[in-house]
Amino acid sequence: MQTFPLFMSLQGRRALVAGGTEAAARKVELLLSAGAQVSLIADTVVGEIAQLIDEGRISWAGRAFDEADLSGVSLVVVASDDEALQARVSLAAQQRCLPVNVVDRPKLSSFIMPAIVDRAPITIAISTGGAAPALARRLRAEIERAMPAAIGRLARFAEVFREQVRRTLEQPRTRRRFWDRVFEGRIAELALAGDEIGARRELIRLLDGTRHEAEPATGMVHLVGAGPGDPDLLTMKAHRLLQRADVVVYDRLVSAEVLAMARRDAERIYVGKRRAKHCLSQDEINHRLVALARAGKSVVRLKGGDPLVFGRGGEEIEALARAGVAVEVVPGVTAALGCAASAGIPLTHRDHAQACVFVTGHLKNGSVDLDWPMLARPRQTVVIYMGANSLPAIASQLVAHGLPASTPVALVENGTTDRERRVVGTLATIERQAMRAQLQGPTLCMVGEVVGLAMAQSGGVKAGEFHFESRVSL
Ligand code: SAH
Repeated sequence: MQTFPLFMSLQGRRALVAGGTEAAARKVELLLSAGAQVSLIADTVVGEIAQLIDEGRISWAGRAFDEADLSGVSLVVVASDDEALQARVSLAAQQRCLPVNVVDRPKLSSFIMPAIVDRAPITIAISTGGAAPALARRLRAEIERAMPAAIGRLARFAEVFREQVRRTLEQPRTRRRFWDRVFEGRIAELALAGDEIGARRELIRLLDGTRHEAEPATGMVHLVGAGPGDPDLLTMKAHRLLQRADVVVYDRLVSAEVLAMARRDAERIYVGKRRAKHCLSQDEINHRLVALARAGKSVVRLKGGDPLVFGRGGEEIEALARAGVAVEVVPGVTAALGCAASAGIPLTHRDHAQACVFVTGHLKNGSVDLDWPMLARPRQTVVIYMGANSLPAIASQLVAHGLPASTPVALVENGTTDRERRVVGTLATIERQAMRAQLQGPTLCMVGEVVGLAMAQSGGVKAGEFHFESRVSL
């Protein structure tokens, strides 16, 4: 975070604006709408400001700035083109530790004026840290479109009951569940539609019901697919569960961006294999999930890609079922689908591949034990998970069992993330190319004629040629 966002109360406080420009008029309007008493200093002012002065809504001094103008002031804004004045006011304000903003001069400012979505009492402030104010304005437009204008009414409605709910439902978790129900359902609809009496009646009923509801003795585990990395590829259900989870148990393949979608105060437990020095065994993970659920928690067990595709999700389901803990599985976009999409490889194709096989290239006792005659059949696509280390064995076995050495192969590392890299070659060349590229992250291998189609699309890279690119260039 480059700057720290906070919301400052200006009700009844004095704000000083130096300058009488159009920009000054915009800032004065904002300050007035936050309840500030605005004093303006400028020789000349634009029409809008003149009108505010005439109406007595702001006080005005038509003279030069004097340091004494800063006494009793809570906030300073400079909206003048006079650079000497900008520097003087900025310095004088900062010497007094007064927050100061000089329009379009971040270096002279101690705070940024964000783009604002005002749905009082809800206020959303957007800042790009001064990097791209135009982008902040676009974001504001999008948020405004997505937020019903009456959302402020809903917040005010909820505020009336806040204290009563706090007293009635002592457990924070019960309260959170209660408010989730209020905001998701009919009560919010009624309040948004302006039927406050109806909304009140329903809220009281729900509050009464929730008070008498026994706390669930056992929580639940949601086995959720986190997708291959890009957070936009999460399902809506995964997103919703992440927003509600008490605990998120995740492993190495889950990207930081996806994890950031979890509720801010949810507990996060890392059970990955590589980073942790004392890695948890599958049994230990199973026990942990059972214990958390038995403690009444709502647990999201987040797994890269799809939880049931080479994810050992099956073992976790069994363990939870044996312990009598309820499980729900939420599918995710598996690496094969994510990587194929971002590389532009059609996994099946009328003319080239009537089947697609997902296999694991994981080494067992130093060798890859797979049904090679089946994998080497023509007119199919073979997708290999966890195959980076066994690539030489895979390529030579496929050729030994009949696939032409010229069959195209694609490797995708960190597919769908900003760090995605791709290497495209053939069964004959891919081992050497992979070594040169030094792929380190999770890597998926795709073998078949369809890979050649993507090569053709990307400008006809010849088979065997070293091909190395970022995801944006296809
Ligand atoms: N359940 C996961 C797969 C787990 S096995 C899923 O459905 O995707 C782990 C393997 O998945 C990795 O070794 C790699 O081969 C593949 N993988 C997962 N995420 C990937 C990504 N973003 N890019 C490339 N390969 C990935």
